[in-house]
Amino acid sequence: MSSKDWIEKDYYAALGVEKSASSDEIKKSYRKLARESHPDHNPGDPKAEERFKAVSEAYAVLGDEKKRREYDEMRSLFGSGAFRRNARGAGQPGGMPFDVSDLFGGAGGGGEARFGGGGLGDLFSSIFTGGGAGGAARPRGPARGRDVETEVALDFPDAVRGVTLPLTLRAPGVCETCHGNGAKPGTQPVACPVCHGAGVTTRNQGSFSFSEPCRNCQGVGTIVEEKCPECHGTGGVTKTRTLNVRFPAGVADGQRIRLAGRGEPGERGGSAGDLFVHVKVRPDELFGRTGDDLTLTVPITFAEAVLGTDLRVPTLDGTVTLRVPPGTPGGRVLRARGKGVVRRDGRAGDLLVTLDVVVPATLSDEARAALETFAEQTPPAAREHLDARVRRFS
Ligand SMILES: [Zn+2]
Ligand SMILES: [Zn+2]
Repeated sequence: MSSKDWIEKDYYAALGVEKSASSDEIKKSYRKLARESHPDHNPGDPKAEERFKAVSEAYAVLGDEKKRREYDEMRSLFGSGAFRRNARGAGQPGGMPFDVSDLFGGAGGGGEARFGGGGLGDLFSSIFTGGGAGGAARPRGPARGRDVETEVALDFPDAVRGVTLPLTLRAPGVCETCHGNGAKPGTQPVACPVCHGAGVTTRNQGSFSFSEPCRNCQGVGTIVEEKCPECHGTGGVTKTRTLNVRFPAGVADGQRIRLAGRGEPGERGGSAGDLFVHVKVRPDELFGRTGDDLTLTVPITFAEAVLGTDLRVPTLDGTVTLRVPPGTPGGRVLRARGKGVVRRDGRAGDLLVTLDVVVPATLSDEARAALETFAEQTPPAAREHLDARVRRFS
């Protein structure tokens, strides 16, 4: 068994269990299959013996919690190409014990950590998703650049009015100082002293010997003694580019904007991918938004509600005066036409002002006296319809 085995062999399939199987399910399935294929029960049957070996090999890994985790991890890592740099080791004497390019659907490129091939890209998956993942089959001809996704937070007024912002995008690339091998210029990676360049270590357990990826060199077979100062030995660097992106007026929280051809450049003349920008809009401390209407809550006193008043309230760009007619109930919504979000067709939503009648928590003596006078002069609230129901329980 080698690290190649770990990547190529599906131990779950060998034991006939799901990847999510519990350790009990794995044990049960193993016992059943091992019994059926045991050489003692199948004397002189080489196929049964093969099967027995395969089942035992699979169980040696999946039956051990720790090893199973490592196996899962390794398969997911290699499947997504996170160790792509290691492909360079293939060209080193005694380098990779297996051909990484097989794992990437023949992506070619001799270990260049390119944007399109998975590569370090998964480390930046929050920024870059989609396109050319892992071992997906590549179309013939120049490869289209990959789509890029990013997220932008806009201030509330900018989202309402529209704004152009410079967007800095980060993409993984090969370190130009060391050309990706991670070694300080003038030095070379050397064979790993633990695995002697094999990339795997072997140990014996019972009648089987097991190989695992070397922990000292992470299966690469070489180690870097003097690290490249630019990439700190990783072989990869983050490259940045800046784009000016226009966000149209009225762009809403959660919206996704597609900018055709502004993703990663294509390779060797291929067309560029698209850029998808996920928009977040920071909430405003005053205004809310419902579609094209802006919303605003304005506190008024009981006296203002009863007697009526003119209210001067802010809009996003200035102020507007609203008439509160006498006898306006709390919760009433006043509408300032055209003071909302200006749409693409030039028409605008409204500003919706909700009146919040505020009850004072404390009163001055004068105010209390005035209010008591007011209460004496005011007919009781119309509660007869409720009182009838209350009397039934008295
Ligand atoms: Zn090693
Ligand atoms: Zn470097």
